[in-house]
Amino acid sequence: MDYAVARRRMVEKHLVQRGIKDPRVLEVMGNIPRHKFVEDALQSQAYTDYALPIGEKQTISQPYMVAVMTEAAQLIGDEKVLEIGTGSGYQAAVLSRMAAQVYSVERIVVLARRARRILDTLQYNNVHIKVSDGTLGWTEHQPYEVILVTAGAPDVPQEYLSQLAPLGRLVIPVGGEDTQTLRRITRMADNTYREEDLLLCRFVPLIGQSGWPNE
Ligand code: SAM
Repeated sequence: MDYAVARRRMVEKHLVQRGIKDPRVLEVMGNIPRHKFVEDALQSQAYTDYALPIGEKQTISQPYMVAVMTEAAQLIGDEKVLEIGTGSGYQAAVLSRMAAQVYSVERIVVLARRARRILDTLQYNNVHIKVSDGTLGWTEHQPYEVILVTAGAPDVPQEYLSQLAPLGRLVIPVGGEDTQTLRRITRMADNTYREEDLLLCRFVPLIGQSGWPNE
């Protein structure tokens, strides 16, 4: 299979034709080998627009949703980004090509280790991963110009609002366990927060102290 051709088709059909406009998002997603972030048996499906299983009942998000979230983050290249939910490492790889440093938190150790291995092999050297409860953010490196949450939260954890830099953007799916609304929250210069609802989405749950209980 020619993955470069499949990737170009994915960008055109699932991103451009569905309204993704940021040229950097399109370029970066046109270059990153998504098939390397899934197991061998699923590689031929890597450029379809589906979330795919990565083990531990978790998923690599569908390309369209990765593009929507990355575009909503409005990155210009010099930002410090916090990602919650490393999963496969693919979203972190996309962010790493569009920002200065990416701090990514994953609660499941085997996923964090696998993502680390893949990101090291592909030389995404500005991605830092920690195994922890990401509902608490990552206080050591705050404030962040962007916080991107790739699991669905019942409410917006207060920790994210306080770890956001002035004029920073938090992109987070909020709602029930089955469906959520993707929301962008901007910390304004006067320390108020502006909320925008972007679209309906469906993520695995954000589990932790300021998220869903672990059942
Ligand atoms: N961004 C990932 C990617 O590119 O593959 C997809 C993430 S997957 C949809 C959601 C991830 O969030 C899972 O790996 C899950 O273990 C993780 N997660 C859920 N609750 C978490 C928490 N409190 N802290 C850190 N990670 C969490």
